[in-house]
Amino acid sequence: MSEKRSSSIPSAVPPTWLGVMGGGQLGRMFAHAAQAMGYKVAVLEPARDCPAGHAADHLLSAAYTDEAALDELALQCAAVTTEFENVPAQSLAFLAERSFVAPSANCVSIAQDRMLEKRFFTECAATSGVLPAPHKVIASEADIEAIPDDLLPGILKTARLGYDGKGQVRVRTREEARAAFAAMKGVACVLEKMLPLAYEISVLAARGADGQSVVYPIAENVHRDGILFTTTVPGPNVSAECAHKAQDAALAVIARMEYVGVLCIEFFVLQDGSLVVNEMAPRPHNSGHYTIDACVTSQFAQQVRAMARLPLGDVRQHSPAVMLNILGDIWFDGDSDKAREPAWNKVLALPGANLHLYGKDDPRRGRKMGHVTFVAPTLEQAQASLHAACAILGIAL
Ligand code: ATP
Ligand code: MG
Repeated sequence: MSEKRSSSIPSAVPPTWLGVMGGGQLGRMFAHAAQAMGYKVAVLEPARDCPAGHAADHLLSAAYTDEAALDELALQCAAVTTEFENVPAQSLAFLAERSFVAPSANCVSIAQDRMLEKRFFTECAATSGVLPAPHKVIASEADIEAIPDDLLPGILKTARLGYDGKGQVRVRTREEARAAFAAMKGVACVLEKMLPLAYEISVLAARGADGQSVVYPIAENVHRDGILFTTTVPGPNVSAECAHKAQDAALAVIARMEYVGVLCIEFFVLQDGSLVVNEMAPRPHNSGHYTIDACVTSQFAQQVRAMARLPLGDVRQHSPAVMLNILGDIWFDGDSDKAREPAWNKVLALPGANLHLYGKDDPRRGRKMGHVTFVAPTLEQAQASLHAACAILGIAL
């Protein structure tokens, strides 16, 4: 292990190291961005074979709570971040006693718990101007009886550890809510009123340790089966008024949390045009992948800048973009269980196509394997490439 530099400014001799908790694709793309700026990257992740591990300069294969490994990471790195939302907040607090950690354990712990998150959004409403969906905490059978009628139909979501629509059940009646809560084996949940969505957006913001902050253009997101399907920027449905409101709300939230790093906030736009805040991710986000190919500073380069206490980068988008998530499903023809590689040569022949694969050699249905971003002089051209790619890959639009 090399000696740690006290400064987090990029340096070749001796190298400056940045650390990341988590070995998934977000860590991999973070590593690529950090290395492009001259950093060396250490990843702490339990699995030995992981997307970020293949890209990292050093992989610490250890549990997120392994104090010896955390010590080693903190000693080696001038700053540490997380790519995995459910990393134990105590581990980040432990690291923060030894190195600079962004985002902080406190910010991450709010985003890890839907109850804390909703309470925080509600507290912010006076400055952010946006409220979360009407909801009720469900911690016991008695809470089910006390559900106000107007929260139904709703969605019962586990308070912790949900992602990609997992840990969620749509319930029409109190009876269904009772059964769904029982099936979740009594873990704390939040029941949210089912809202009439017109469309969904997300806002990526970043804040430096000095308090300067930036906000990216609004991304319009389409989900399928609870998983992000496409992100389009500029969003075809997003009005200038809605965009400003969501961007201002994101800046209010990030300031109030005294957050350092990249934060993504998801919003619902309802059929009456009103804006509702859904949830936040304390890290770069799938809906921000388009920034790699379409913005001056990608969300990963921005994370590097924020955690290294460098000036934040220009968030300007230079090209309209559409991002298509690539799930393991397209490795399989119909119901066949024999995997075959999709025709990337044909996809890459399309105008403006940028392929990003995460180095996962085990495609599974519903597993995020990569994404393709189409950039073009006009949104229509980017969308035309998206349509052609879906036809090539056998993805129904
Ligand atoms: P992520 O992958 O973004 O972490 P998640 O599993 O945490 O997802 P949510 O973002 O809460 O889940 O919900 C997933 C999707 O379900 C939303 O993007 C939206 O399409 C739909 N949804 C969630 N809550 C509501 C609601 N209250 N009313 C209507 N639709 C909802
Ligand atoms: Mg979500």
